[in-house]
Amino acid sequence: MSTFNELNLSPEILKSLAGLGYEKMTDVQSRVIPEILKGNDVMVQSKTGSGKTAAFGTAISEQIDWEENRPQALILTPTRELAIQIQEEMMNIGRFKRLKAVAVYGKSPFKEQAQQLKQKTHVVVGTPGRVLDHLERGTLNLQRVKYVVLDEADEMLSMGFIETIEMILKMTSLNRQTLFFSATLPARIEKLSQQYLKNPSMITIESES
Ligand code: ADP
Ligand code: MG
Repeated sequence: MSTFNELNLSPEILKSLAGLGYEKMTDVQSRVIPEILKGNDVMVQSKTGSGKTAAFGTAISEQIDWEENRPQALILTPTRELAIQIQEEMMNIGRFKRLKAVAVYGKSPFKEQAQQLKQKTHVVVGTPGRVLDHLERGTLNLQRVKYVVLDEADEMLSMGFIETIEMILKMTSLNRQTLFFSATLPARIEKLSQQYLKNPSMITIESES
């Protein structure tokens, strides 16, 4: 089992990972982080609880341009609860770099989120409907985005978010890396990945333990 220390990460990121009690990487983390750092798109299938958030969270935090004011990563996730959890984990991992992550989700005041998005924001985490809403109303600009993550892609598709997700993907920078994470790989996800991922590394973690 490899540890985070074996990756060439900045001391600030290693310090916050240690503070979270993350020492050894989970299987998905040891496979996925190097791929993302190499610049590859990934299609990752791995069960719930395997540490997918810190997999993309660590790689993305490591690649943030701290001088850039506009968001550099967009993470789409199916629910408000997950959006908040991921935002917190990103802020924890990027703590000593002062990473700023903003969560946007429905059934919550739009204006307050828009205010937050006006400040310097490195990472936006949100549910598809509200993210599209911010894009269409001009309160979110994703032209500088280097990473787009679909978290729980299967779940988002079965909730009917496919068209919304496709509209969002079309409004983000073409220079992005696209990262799909899913517990299962139904045909619709494969099709979506063929459309939106460039020469992706396919990573499947067999469930053990
Ligand atoms: P997934 O998204 O695959 O369902 P999560 O990212 O939510 O999984 O992580 C599941 C749990 O594992 C969380 O409580 C998280 O804090 C913990 N965790 C993640 N990575 C590590 C690690 N390297 N070492 C110890 N615990 C970890
Ligand atoms: Mg998850």
